[in-house]
Amino acid sequence: MPILKIAVAKPLRTTFDYLPPADCDDKLIAQLQPGVRVEVPFGTRRLIGVLVSRAPESDVQRTKLKRAIRIIDTTSLLSKPLVELCLWASHYYAHPIGEVLTLAFPPLLRKGANNRTPSNGVRLTAEGQVAPQGIMRSPRQAALIERLRMQSATRATLKAEGFNSSIIKALIDKGFATPCGLDEPESVTTLTETRPELNDEQATAVKHIAQQRGFAASLLYGITGSGKTEVYLEAIANTIAQGSQALVLVPEIALTPQTAARFQERFGAAVGVLHSGLTDVQRAREWERAQTGKLQVLLGTRSALFTPFRKLGLIVIDEEHDSAYKQQDGFRYHARDLAIKRAQLERCPIVLGSATPSLETISNVVNGRFQHYRLRTRAKASRLPTWQITDVRQQVLQAGLSKQLIDACHATLSKGEQALLFLNRRGFAHTLLCHDCGWVAQCDHCDSRLVVHKRQHRLRCHHCQAQKPLPSHCPNCRSQQWQGLGYGTERAELALQSLFPNTPIYRIDSDTIGSTAQLDQVLDAINNNQSGCLILGTQMLAKGHDLAKVTLVGIVDTDALLFSSDFRAEERLSQLLTQVSGRSGRGEKPGAVVLQTHHPEADVFRRVIEQDYWDTALSLLDERQGSGLPPFGQLVMMHADSKDPHEAERFLNAARQTFTSILPANHLLIGPLPAPLSKRAGKFRSQLTWLAPHEKNLHRYTHLIADTLARLPHKQELAWSIDIDPYDFL
Ligand code: ADP
Ligand code: ZN
Ligand code: ZN
Repeated sequence: MPILKIAVAKPLRTTFDYLPPADCDDKLIAQLQPGVRVEVPFGTRRLIGVLVSRAPESDVQRTKLKRAIRIIDTTSLLSKPLVELCLWASHYYAHPIGEVLTLAFPPLLRKGANNRTPSNGVRLTAEGQVAPQGIMRSPRQAALIERLRMQSATRATLKAEGFNSSIIKALIDKGFATPCGLDEPESVTTLTETRPELNDEQATAVKHIAQQRGFAASLLYGITGSGKTEVYLEAIANTIAQGSQALVLVPEIALTPQTAARFQERFGAAVGVLHSGLTDVQRAREWERAQTGKLQVLLGTRSALFTPFRKLGLIVIDEEHDSAYKQQDGFRYHARDLAIKRAQLERCPIVLGSATPSLETISNVVNGRFQHYRLRTRAKASRLPTWQITDVRQQVLQAGLSKQLIDACHATLSKGEQALLFLNRRGFAHTLLCHDCGWVAQCDHCDSRLVVHKRQHRLRCHHCQAQKPLPSHCPNCRSQQWQGLGYGTERAELALQSLFPNTPIYRIDSDTIGSTAQLDQVLDAINNNQSGCLILGTQMLAKGHDLAKVTLVGIVDTDALLFSSDFRAEERLSQLLTQVSGRSGRGEKPGAVVLQTHHPEADVFRRVIEQDYWDTALSLLDERQGSGLPPFGQLVMMHADSKDPHEAERFLNAARQTFTSILPANHLLIGPLPAPLSKRAGKFRSQLTWLAPHEKNLHRYTHLIADTLARLPHKQELAWSIDIDPYDFL
């Protein structure tokens, strides 16, 4: 009797062997595909697992094997390429297969729910829609195709019209029709007539993407507003016309309401959207629509990558450089990298779009692995903004702003235009200091200071959930002479209100914007403003919003990024400066950028101002090549944390000793070192870094390393993790 190898959602990098359920015959078992859900006993509980493979024998003694309880799906709900993607990802990221496969199911189905939506009706498939007349030899089947071309219908209606169930079944078996639930909106592709005529560069990109057969990756490089989204829409229209589906990933849907709206305007009910605000039932429904081919376009964030499709024909990754694509805990995958793998497995094209592509992607263009399409002209506006660097050393700042920036704001406002101030820090002040004794408010659980949130009257830690009321007296000396150090957006807003008393000020950060609706409202108010206003905000502002009346961008303070130990800091700063400055002058009028810094001589500023982003990126790539850092080498971080101040370091030290004997001499081990945030949420944190030159069988070492870590003895409460291609070094 065959053995079922089942993955369960437990942090274990292995499958478990089970005997088939007692009531299953061998024939049924022989037909089971990887991806079917199986309920199994696990310890004292029952779990919903996923079949990974079948095997003739088990290493476990047959008498010790348990029987699976029931087979839930007769055919796999996951497509073959998706199961392969999960297996590949589990292997590449050395992450438990059960936890990876779980991601491919919506929460309801993870609990074992049935995937049946009422299929009381019949509709034509894409093939059925385009099937030439006369393809059906049976006149009744041909008549049914004609009938369904007018409109889908319930089985009952069709029966009343004289089409019996064997005729319907014949069409379904031939792939020309499919059962459907008729209470749902029909997925008709409603192309709106208002699409702009593409310019030459856009048309070239669309044409080439349409010609791609099988796997091909392309970078669509164009500044914000250059018409990338229009290219995606047109490429997707071609995909749909071929009867295939498209997957579009965006970094954060809540921050880009306009994008989702544009897809819906263009493709109507054929678009599904997956975002964190959905209920489990809504989520399961969108998943099912993708899986059965009822929807043609799925727009979603990171995890939407694991949705099954009936026939995937195109993947689009918008803002491909965005670090939101990297999952920072648990299963630490990078959705862009996995999307490329998925496109290979699905044998379909993938398009990565950005105004500031990642060095990984640019390197893939340089070495010829990716196609490259460039949109050089802004679809609407004419010129890029002019830059001014303001040396703030020894200047008296008001509200964190230099005299030059304040004057520039006044000049902009006096013309009835809008100024945007970028400040990448939330809250009021980043540190609360007692003026009399120097006491500083620290988080009790982290190696970090508490941030003052004045309106909420609270001190909050931005690294853990800790918060407390603002103290009235200094706990050290009873003084009430508090000083808040540094400017967060909350404080800047207050100060700006007194500097610009008659000007509307809109603040956009995660403390003021809690929902898409709120963001929409603020963006509307800004776009309707006629007489000038100030917009103040964090990173949230850098995300592709179309603010047509902004002609001045003030970059208040990005100096911290100059001194970050993260090897991507300069890449990030270049991207940030390019993106934020791109908010200026999107309409008819030219824009200006004022950048404040204590280091006006820094190379990165000169590069961003003098060069185009691409050349900056090429210089940065050169530096990476010199140091063997990604994308020229592979980086892996091992983290350990423990309540015991020494346990994490001891554990990683022991690990290092083992690795030294496993790894080739040209692999580099750094550490263990205390993490930059050496204590978080009450735990002491240590890191060990492994830098390897790129080579074919690197996975092999990753697994040796993960196995070593899993076997090393340690205190029960110590937690360790491994991060392949890390983006977060805190
Ligand atoms: P991106 O995605 O690169 O930011 P979009 O596709 O959103 O750029 O285009 C920016 C604006 O220009 C949108 O309002 C879009 O409708 C418009 N647009 C894009 N392409 C064209 C074109 N070829 N002709 C006229 N308007 C266009
Ligand atoms: Zn004090
Ligand atoms: Zn904390």
